[in-house]
Amino acid sequence: MTSHDPLARLIGELSRLPSIGPKTATRLAHHLLKVREEDARSLAAAIIDVKERLFPCSLCNAITAVDPCRLCADPERDRTRICVVEESFNIAPIERTGEFHGLYHVLMGALSPHRGIGPDEIDVEGLSGRLEWIEEVVIATNPNVEGEATALYLARLLKPKGIAVTRLAFGLPVGGDIEYTDEVTLGRAMSGRREI
Ligand SMILES: [Zn+2]
Repeated sequence: MTSHDPLARLIGELSRLPSIGPKTATRLAHHLLKVREEDARSLAAAIIDVKERLFPCSLCNAITAVDPCRLCADPERDRTRICVVEESFNIAPIERTGEFHGLYHVLMGALSPHRGIGPDEIDVEGLSGRLEWIEEVVIATNPNVEGEATALYLARLLKPKGIAVTRLAFGLPVGGDIEYTDEVTLGRAMSGRREI
């Protein structure tokens, strides 16, 4: 399991990645054994590079190489609206719809009583500190149990402050994920968002 067996070590490391089981890890490791050395070095360097150069934006938590991130720094964005997402990678598909021109806030997770994830484990505090000019908070958490619990919690927190709280009008099955939703469906969900 340790470094004296390089192949077992690589399989072990790969199998810790999300949705990579032991079988896939073994197949990937044997594939990497066969690639050219420069390609293997390029992959290893790319992993180190994202770890060294990227970090969460100090305002919105989006993964960025500059602080504040490109979206937070853009003077053209509507600063009265903020779209709340679970993960940084949820921003790009929403941006591609072209339906939203405000700011974002990445919670870095969702509420999950089952897994002991409460409001202190996600970045609700950071969101609370960004509400001064905000007229509308669009909640774009995933349409599953955790995402819905998070949306309801935020609605209860924000509405007493006089902020309109809207939720994407999902045209997809409950239990789905924003990152697997096509742009047309997601664009429709954004334009048809409802107050909650
Ligand atoms: Zn930002």
